Amino acid sequence: MIERTRPRAVSAICETWRAQGRRIAFVPTMGALHAGHLSLVRRARRDADRVVTSIFVNPLQFGPREDFARYPRALARDRALLRAHGVDLLFRPAVGDIYPAGDATRVQVTGLDQPLCGRSRPGHFTGVATVVLKLLEIVRPHVLWLGQKDAQQAAIVERMVRDLRLGVRVRRAPIVRDRDGLALSSRNAYLSPAERAQALGLWRGLQAARAAVRRRTRSAAVLRRVVKAVWRSHPGLRPDYMEVVDPRTLEPAAAIRGRVLIAVAGYVGRTRLIDNLLVAPPAARRRRGAA
Ligand code: AMP
Repeated sequence: MIERTRPRAVSAICETWRAQGRRIAFVPTMGALHAGHLSLVRRARRDADRVVTSIFVNPLQFGPREDFARYPRALARDRALLRAHGVDLLFRPAVGDIYPAGDATRVQVTGLDQPLCGRSRPGHFTGVATVVLKLLEIVRPHVLWLGQKDAQQAAIVERMVRDLRLGVRVRRAPIVRDRDGLALSSRNAYLSPAERAQALGLWRGLQAARAAVRRRTRSAAVLRRVVKAVWRSHPGLRPDYMEVVDPRTLEPAAAIRGRVLIAVAGYVGRTRLIDNLLVAPPAARRRRGAA
């Protein structure tokens, strides 16, 4: 595995690969890797000749009171994992190479950055879109792999790629969960065992919502009540939101007709966690299955 920190060096290697006709897949991360990240790498490995992964804890996507300084960092372990998973190039830029002195350009995907996490994390998605555009410009991959875990982030990046005609294929990988159902996240490292038990309320709420949809509940308001009832039995979970939205536009869906995204977020202690589930009414599932 090649490892580089300078953008110019990464661009040169990727340019050579492209000239050789190699198909490049890119998996951007913030490190502290877990099986969710590695599932993206595995999928990238399957549909490309070269896999590039970046590890960059992007200061621009953290709010002033958020966890940038204490975000978990585990470089030696990450490096070994990426090597073992067949990554060809690890890009580990310095903050100053991504945001050189005087850097003033920001990318805002308007509208999609407002609901869900946008409400409690103002500026977060501008940080995300800006860094992803910069990384894409350096690597110029054929395929970009993102996780469904960050569904709003994926929707925003997909819209940016479309709007700016970036010519990269964006692919999403499903959420990887721990055995108890908790969605894997680098931030799970912050949780004590007691906090972890509370954090599970997010997933249990989603499961209850899915069960309700299977029992033919079609009202988002009813689903909200179902989820909130589950959350009440997890008093250590401080809910941020529970929304039923269209998976692409993120607009609220009052009724569950086709596929909807149920997105949740909450705090356990100082740790903010998110999770989501795509659900469809049984009839819609049957139609899709029959097609
Ligand atoms: P992060 O390091 O948190 O910025 O995540 C890097 C990429 O991994 C993003 O595309 C995430 O959506 C994805 N990812 C994070 N956690 C998971 C998970 N549990 N399952 C699938 N993908 C994930």
